[in-house]
Amino acid sequence: METDQVNETNENADEKINQLRSQINSVDEKIIECLASRRKLVSEIASGKARDGSPLRDSKREQELLVDRIRIGKERGLDAYFVTKVFHEIIDDSVRLQQEYLQGRANSTAPGQAVVRIAFHGIEGSYSHIAARKHFSRYGEQVVFLGKTSFDEVIKAVEQGHADYAILPIENTASGGINDVYDLLLHSQISLVGEEKIPVTHCLIASKNVPLTQIKRVFGRPNVISECGKFISRFPDWQIEYLSDSALSVKRIKDANDSSMAAIASEEAAQLFGLTVLERDISNHRESFNRYIIVARNPIKVDVRIPCKTSLVMATAQRAGSLVEALTVFRDHGINLTKLESRPIPGNPWEEMFYVDFEGNLADERVQSALSEVTKGTRFIKVLGSYPSSDLVRTPVAPEVAAAAAAAPAAKKAAPSESKPAEPAKPKTKKAYKLASRDNKPEDTLIHVGGVTIGGDNFSVIAGPCSVESYDQIMLCAKEAKAAGAHILRGGCFKPRTSPYSFQGLGLQGLDFLAEAGRTFGMPIITEVMSEEYIEPVAAKSDIIQIGARNMQNFSLLKAIGRTQRPIMLKRGLSSTIEDLLMAVEYILSEGNQQVILCERGIRTFETATRNTLDISAAPVLRRLTHLPVFIDPSHAAGERELVPPLALAAKAVGAHGIMVEFHPEPEKALSDGPQALRFPQFEEMMQALGKI
Ligand code: PEP
Ligand code: MN
Repeated sequence: METDQVNETNENADEKINQLRSQINSVDEKIIECLASRRKLVSEIASGKARDGSPLRDSKREQELLVDRIRIGKERGLDAYFVTKVFHEIIDDSVRLQQEYLQGRANSTAPGQAVVRIAFHGIEGSYSHIAARKHFSRYGEQVVFLGKTSFDEVIKAVEQGHADYAILPIENTASGGINDVYDLLLHSQISLVGEEKIPVTHCLIASKNVPLTQIKRVFGRPNVISECGKFISRFPDWQIEYLSDSALSVKRIKDANDSSMAAIASEEAAQLFGLTVLERDISNHRESFNRYIIVARNPIKVDVRIPCKTSLVMATAQRAGSLVEALTVFRDHGINLTKLESRPIPGNPWEEMFYVDFEGNLADERVQSALSEVTKGTRFIKVLGSYPSSDLVRTPVAPEVAAAAAAAPAAKKAAPSESKPAEPAKPKTKKAYKLASRDNKPEDTLIHVGGVTIGGDNFSVIAGPCSVESYDQIMLCAKEAKAAGAHILRGGCFKPRTSPYSFQGLGLQGLDFLAEAGRTFGMPIITEVMSEEYIEPVAAKSDIIQIGARNMQNFSLLKAIGRTQRPIMLKRGLSSTIEDLLMAVEYILSEGNQQVILCERGIRTFETATRNTLDISAAPVLRRLTHLPVFIDPSHAAGERELVPPLALAAKAVGAHGIMVEFHPEPEKALSDGPQALRFPQFEEMMQALGKI
């Protein structure tokens, strides 16, 4: 063929291809138009379903739809597998759209807000950033991503209101849970509102295409490096350097512009920084996914028609089989657990916190009943939130059904749905102090501290000085308490004094003395905390933490103490009713901590003959209303030592679970509350008398 002729033929072919491409473009445009029109119709269906309460999905209708589309596809020469795949995507989109619509109605903070701020760990291109972009894609231009350098900062951004949501990695399907995030969740004041999953494909990235043997230094996140351990072990000369974020590792080699350096991160990160992928998919496991949680300051409601998950954290009772009992409750309620992860409790060796994810919605009565059952057997329980599950279940079409559909004549119109509308959840009766109420938990709560069991049929004595004044004083007191048969040693280190000029306590030094005295004489100790900043150091050393009468309604202190794993004693406020006390303890319980002792310590009345008036009936009344142990403090009630022994006997007689009394080796020299401090012999006599009733 002549050269000219060849050129002409090539030109014709090119023109033909261009024509076909432009036809394909207009077909694609039509496909997009059709998808958009379909979406509009779906939105209308969503608002109809929201109004009449009909179920979100109807698998019978979905199956009929798929079978019908397979048949139509076959008529036009498309194979069943391809049609099913395309329509599964279309149905997924339709379901997500309807879920978002229902969620928007159930919660006022869904899309529509001007700017949505999302905190994530790392820099642009990190896996967290990729997951965040995927999860929040529906917000379009309105999203601002705020990169943070630690998980702690990510959570704080939400707690402090600088971000509306945060995204945090919680597990990788190959390497397991992200412990740091689990540990932070326990102490944070956030709720879980969503989850996201992304496939993880680690790549080896360099500034240009070089042979792997030229690489000398490799950067990556510690967990990512370990997920690629097998690949890395093929290059024993590589020097591995750990950075806190995958994208940061890529940025590091970009900035260095050194072709002997490589980073392990996602392909997206390589693209973002304009670098080269030397090797794709280098993880030990061919398929791995990262799961993320989305958190916000407030919990969300999930429409009962949306497949939903709930996460919680709990510590079960300290006895054999208690975890099994808790898990059995879920099974008996037909609730499927999707995750159980255990983490140690700092400061409580050999004890574990369990993180549980299950399929279910807090708005569902079955879930509520399971949770109240589980709560009874726990020392700590905190529900982190209910959120829509990220997994969409696809309606399967069996191959033989697809084959039959392909051969069948045109199907009749799909029959209207036969499934009934979902029953709206019945409103639960709201009691001001639900968790503390005996209606909620008929059996007594028992609290175990250092070999002492508080509550039930036990009568326990807490004794010691008002304040820890010196090492010698508290040692002397501990010896006396032990010898006379007391169970727990008390001593104030932070003192709530009426006058700012009075002795304020020895603080943390006093706590060290008290802890040493407790250890020496084998007694658990109790001391008071007055402000949030001291919760952590006091929880580290004291077996029980006391919240004094003046702080009974310090709600932020109550909430913070509710997030600890130490038993608490909550004293009744000077001018508070029994109901006020029960509502106050609800603040502690609702944050998770279920181990609280209530203490009646006298209230203000018109009577001035005693320091306060001991409301002795509070003990039997509280025992009727709540399952929590109830103590009486006759010392602060009476304010006078001679009245303490008879009131202590009265406390036992009316069924209190114990007493808390003050004594002092030399009451005249006491730095606080001397007049009500028993002398040692008086204390011994009282203990003997108590033994007789
Ligand atoms: C105490 O027990 O040390 C104390 C200060 O008690 P209350 O909070 O009851 O006054
Ligand atoms: Mn006192």
